[in-house]
Amino acid sequence: MKLDVNILRYLSKEDFRVLTAVEMGMRNHEIVPSELIHRIASLKHGGTYKVLKNLLKHKLLHHDSSKYDGFRLTYLGYDFLAIKTLVNRGVFVSVGRQIGVGKESDIFEVATEDGTLLAMKLHRLGRVSFRAVKSKRDYLRHRSNYNWLYLSRLAALKEFAFMKALEEHGFPVPSGVDCNRHCVVMSLVQGYPLVQVKQLQNPETVFETIIGLIVRLAEHGLIHCDFNEFNLMIDDDEKITMIDFPQMVSVSHRNAQMYFDRDVECVFKFFRKRFDLSFQEYTVDADGEEVETDESSRLCFSSISKDAGFLDKELAASGFSRKDQEDIEKFIEGDIEENTSDTDEGTADDVCVSVMNERNIEGVDSLQFLDQDERPLDCAEAGELEDGGQHCQAGESSVLDTENTNDEEDESADENDAKLVKSLSKQRKHAISTAHRGRRTTTSRNSYKDKGGKSSYNSKIQKQLCNW
Ligand code: ADP
Ligand code: MG
Repeated sequence: MKLDVNILRYLSKEDFRVLTAVEMGMRNHEIVPSELIHRIASLKHGGTYKVLKNLLKHKLLHHDSSKYDGFRLTYLGYDFLAIKTLVNRGVFVSVGRQIGVGKESDIFEVATEDGTLLAMKLHRLGRVSFRAVKSKRDYLRHRSNYNWLYLSRLAALKEFAFMKALEEHGFPVPSGVDCNRHCVVMSLVQGYPLVQVKQLQNPETVFETIIGLIVRLAEHGLIHCDFNEFNLMIDDDEKITMIDFPQMVSVSHRNAQMYFDRDVECVFKFFRKRFDLSFQEYTVDADGEEVETDESSRLCFSSISKDAGFLDKELAASGFSRKDQEDIEKFIEGDIEENTSDTDEGTADDVCVSVMNERNIEGVDSLQFLDQDERPLDCAEAGELEDGGQHCQAGESSVLDTENTNDEEDESADENDAKLVKSLSKQRKHAISTAHRGRRTTTSRNSYKDKGGKSSYNSKIQKQLCNW
């Protein structure tokens, strides 16, 4: 799938409104029923149909009519929502060439208004397997697309949180700039992945620096878990920068020792093979015999003092919650249980409609697995997240103009956050009580039923509509 930001040029604010409506609908639907998209987007004169056709043409949505008529976001659609939000926040103004293709990501150069180049990483979980510890092929086979978007969002959030925390502790990592949905913007590392380097001036020094990093990470309570020549960048002065953190775990993880040893072994193996470093040493055993040892065996996980721990506290401060950590760790372990919680569509859908109406596209950063009890709350919380959300366009050189945007609205939306939270919470309570008063259907995500009988509530919502 190619990210052609020029498509942004052709997207109107109605397009983004409908795209956002699908995103919101995906909170509790694998495939969002067309009828629900119409309700959430609530464009005049049945305009949603035309917009859906346009979005489909640009491959921003996928149409599925196997069980009922509906749509889901594609990665491209999700990319555009994130890019648009970041452009509106002023994080960057143009998207340039692709500079990296990771196992589960695409990395692009982006430029800020003053011409500074940054790196934008779009997470794409599900494209290949995640760095699995156990095989989760079965899991992959059964998961649906929207879960991948959700997991990609978590991966981005986690990566950003770790990046910030590591940077603050003086680790050589890219500097985290911003994060939205499945997208992380960070400083552009000057250099090349170590895997591309055939010769080093000081291989021993580089080796020691790298092993030193693994030890320092452990001292700070962390294990990288994918510490290898693909995730280490090196510049002309042989300065190392480590990248790629979504799979990091705490040293208190039950498999910490194994992950640590694996990281260490990767580095030894690479330097042995590529730079012909020899690690054979001789020590004297208890009987006074000289025995050959491998240096890696001297790097003992248990002997590292892990008293500089910062993981939990600092990550939570970056917005990466313990629940997020648990969700993604479960996934990395490959043993996420199928989320079978059926959805009470009436409640969740109505709140989505109302959130959309209240805040429009801003604040929508959805795609979460929602527990039955939590769902309405989370829907309301979506409105508290401060995504931008105005229309932007791309020029031939991928400059993302903000023509057709409404910056004033964006700014005032930010200012009114507190007010918004209050009003959303009121609206949420209202929606919950309305739903509780009405019938409470429990249906699966796949079996959308048209919900009549809510006309009074819906018409009330329709009256509250504000334009995008
Ligand atoms: P994945 O998680 O998919 O492995 P990575 O974060 O490892 O993705 O990035 C893939 C590639 O993109 C890297 O090998 C590197 O070449 C490039 N890359 C990633 N981040 C940056 C950055 N901040 N600056 C420059 N290049 C980067
Ligand atoms: Mg990588």
